[in-house]
Amino acid sequence: MSNYQERHDMRPLGRDEVRGSIMNLDPPTGRVRLPAWFDEIRWERIDYLGWRDTRAQQRVYLVAEVDGEARGVVLRQNPSQPALASRAVMCDLCRFTRRFNEVALFTAPRASADKRRRLSAVGLLLCVDLGCVRAVHRTPVTGPHDPPPEQVVASRRQGLRRRTADFLRSVPDRVGTPRRSR
Ligand SMILES: [Zn+2]
Repeated sequence: MSNYQERHDMRPLGRDEVRGSIMNLDPPTGRVRLPAWFDEIRWERIDYLGWRDTRAQQRVYLVAEVDGEARGVVLRQNPSQPALASRAVMCDLCRFTRRFNEVALFTAPRASADKRRRLSAVGLLLCVDLGCVRAVHRTPVTGPHDPPPEQVVASRRQGLRRRTADFLRSVPDRVGTPRRSR
């Protein structure tokens, strides 16, 4: 129907696959609580799977298919910074600009026995409601010289997918493997 569906849809991931994809769990054997709506996920509509831990509200999980494999991180939402109040902030993943309290800094703590290495956590500015995957579907306001709306949506989704993959690749693999210091 549309010419703009060349991008690959996210492959439906299994529960165990999602649980096993979190690279920075601390401890590495920690339990990942999946969202209650896991069975209702419409995989063809989303470019990442993101959800908030119901028992630890500052904690969110972000999982995507990267290079054919499920890759995910657990992120901690930093307390809001008053200095940013009243400013609009752009989400690093969907690139939508939102109110200052709708985007927050999230960091991916490195699960490491070595406390010093925790300092080098990677972070990003992200929609607090993890709504990037919905925002990219919004019908764009286009003028006569703009590309058709489906193309705008497809290119937003491609960008979201690419930036999510880049971020997930930037988080080191399984650094939490228990290691005894001598
Ligand atoms: Zn976003």
